[in-house]
Amino acid sequence: MTHKLPELPWSNDALVPHISPETLEYHYGKHHNADVTRLNIGIKGTEFENSSLEEIIKGAKGGIFNYAAQVWNHSFYWNCLSPNAGGSPTGTIAQVIDGKWGSFDEFKTAFSDSAAANFGAGWTWLVKDSSGELSIVNTDDAQTPMTQGLTALMTIDVWEHAYYIDYRNARPKYIEAFWNLVNWDFVNSNL
Ligand code: MN
Repeated sequence: MTHKLPELPWSNDALVPHISPETLEYHYGKHHNADVTRLNIGIKGTEFENSSLEEIIKGAKGGIFNYAAQVWNHSFYWNCLSPNAGGSPTGTIAQVIDGKWGSFDEFKTAFSDSAAANFGAGWTWLVKDSSGELSIVNTDDAQTPMTQGLTALMTIDVWEHAYYIDYRNARPKYIEAFWNLVNWDFVNSNL
């Protein structure tokens, strides 16, 4: 089975001024694309040759895991972003966030602090566990909540390639911009 790079859910200038077309050209066009290519090369002749992306993430280790998880993480991240989005959450997620963190502002601060403190390359996630409890978790490198039995609701990519073109070393500025792009409809659909 050949894994494919999914189409972006919007045009590559849609996230201006928060994320530039040049960032997407590299982040999607080079990094995400390369992960798909390397995954397809890596699984050839292995037990994962005909596996779904999820099966590879749950079963593989090493390079094959890394490429599969990065393919999934990036596809999920693009869906978390949308033009004309952001601001306060809507729908059920708004109530669940208020119930857990007290207010959206408290949640936003906790999530932003976690993303800013995520050392090195990785991802910061809003997740739901099997009992329905929400939490904020950081993962390193390609690690993804699926392998811990957690359901991903929302993520921000904090690898430097996600923000260095637009924000250089100022990861907090990128995190601040992220809140203008959060696709709450998608977050709700993951609940
Ligand atoms: Mn990335």
